[in-house]
Amino acid sequence: MNFLEERIAKEGIVKEGNVLKVDSFLNHRMDIALLEEMGKEFHRRFADKPITKVLTIETSGIAIAYPVAKAFGVPLVFAKKSESVKLDGDVYTAEVESFTEKKSNRVIVSKKFLTSEDRVLIIDDFLANGCALQGLISLAYLAGAEVSGIGIAIEKGFQNGGERIRNLGYRLESLAIVEQMDAKTGEITFRPQNG
Ligand code: 5GP
Repeated sequence: MNFLEERIAKEGIVKEGNVLKVDSFLNHRMDIALLEEMGKEFHRRFADKPITKVLTIETSGIAIAYPVAKAFGVPLVFAKKSESVKLDGDVYTAEVESFTEKKSNRVIVSKKFLTSEDRVLIIDDFLANGCALQGLISLAYLAGAEVSGIGIAIEKGFQNGGERIRNLGYRLESLAIVEQMDAKTGEITFRPQNG
């Protein structure tokens, strides 16, 4: 098991409805040393790519994307959830179906901060059905930016987002892929990965 899998096995809590809670080190209390190690690991995995920007979605993606952007020495841009019905023409927008809140959010990025010059590394905390990633990919597409890679902390491999995104041809790297989890026993099984 790698460092993140070990931590999930130790502290992750499996909830009904296919939700994994990692509040003790990622989503509520944050272990900064662990986040920094994740940042270095994403940097190692995408070191061959000339990344110009890290792109994530608020809120929980930001803490993970921060050390990644630091490792690459590039800015971090996060897509914002927007309630406003009156949007000016200066933003790109995408609709994202939220897995945990079961509602749709409009997310926006300012046209100033994502351009056709950019080669983007997309980062997020979880991958379930892939809606958040689809939203981020479409924001990059609208800006004419290239998606050079996608880094996910925890992919739930029994949901179909990972397969869908990989089938679209994107290079998607997940630090931990949960193959199975059981809310009754709390047991979590990981997909074996190389490296
Ligand atoms: P997707 O859009 O791939 O269906 O879901 C990804 C988003 O939903 C992530 O940005 C994450 O915030 C949230 N999410 C999905 N599954 C889980 C989960 O099992 N646990 C937690 N804490 N968040 C999740």
